[in-house]
Amino acid sequence: MTDEDNCFEFEDGLVANDYEPGSGLDGIVCFSGGKDSTAMLIRMLELDDPVNYPVNRVVFADTTFEFQELYDYIDFIDGWLQEHYPKCPRIEKVFSEKSWEDWFYGEITRGENKGRIRGHPLKRYPCWWSREAKIKPLQKAQQGFKWAYVGIAVDESHRVQKRDAKRKESLRVRYPLIEWNWTEADCMAYLDHLGLGNLLYSSFNRIGCYHCPKQPLHSWYEVWKHWPEFWKESLHWDAESIRVRDNGQGLRDDMTLAEMEERFKNGFVPENRDGLYDCKSCSAVSFHSTGDLDLEDFDDDNAIERDVGYQGSRIHQDQAKQDSDEATWIPPSHETTNVEWL
Ligand code: SF4
Repeated sequence: MTDEDNCFEFEDGLVANDYEPGSGLDGIVCFSGGKDSTAMLIRMLELDDPVNYPVNRVVFADTTFEFQELYDYIDFIDGWLQEHYPKCPRIEKVFSEKSWEDWFYGEITRGENKGRIRGHPLKRYPCWWSREAKIKPLQKAQQGFKWAYVGIAVDESHRVQKRDAKRKESLRVRYPLIEWNWTEADCMAYLDHLGLGNLLYSSFNRIGCYHCPKQPLHSWYEVWKHWPEFWKESLHWDAESIRVRDNGQGLRDDMTLAEMEERFKNGFVPENRDGLYDCKSCSAVSFHSTGDLDLEDFDDDNAIERDVGYQGSRIHQDQAKQDSDEATWIPPSHETTNVEWL
């Protein structure tokens, strides 16, 4: 192993090569509570192979806007692990250093939009909250570890393509699901077999913040229908974004959430669970680790969505049309029933 193999790269060019053999810091698991990282963690423990799959620390980066069902699920998995694998470390939560409000109401510090209020993360750009609440805390937690384990399934392995061979060599992130050839469906089946499926997948393809601007219409519909408190809070952040941004841009660029609510009340049920955008930017932890994204990529300072002329522009109309084409109209009487949440 070369010295270069012993390096992790962190933000601002900081290189940490502080792993010390015998330190007990062999493996840290980035755990999200999603099906992939949950299946990966349990299988690593089941294999009981501390050389290849050491589990010395398990961390969950908390955006503080997760569904309560996810927090409950994480507590449940934590208890289940203690019962079945008592040596497994407890799941730790890590957080952003600055608050959501600090960023939301903060001023953009550079670029063409310097001095303007930031507002909500944008739909078409990497999310600043993902950077602050996930990437940075997880980077910090990984310091000193030999391996960081990330749950990306083999059918999503295109997400770990490396952009820069040199950078790739300096990073030591492991993807056990890819090593085992496990697909997302395999992860789901594995958890179901253990009786550990996460019921949130009954409503969503991807789990993220309940007011994530990248979620597809179907996902918004689920929030509106089953989580009225979270919908109310999403309405609040949409209205706040429109208020503080001088181009009046809210969470979506085709309609306000208040308008969306009217459509839902009038019987609009989006059918397609996938969207052009989704919370995959939260996988930015792995994108970043593999060199596919730099932290600078999360700077949306010059984003077109911030342009004063964006609303009503040709590009805005084309993109809004693309988004609405994903959704099909289902008469209310044909609406599928969903799991009723307690
Ligand atoms: S779920 Fe959405 S809003 Fe939350 S951190 Fe991820 S991209 Fe940002």
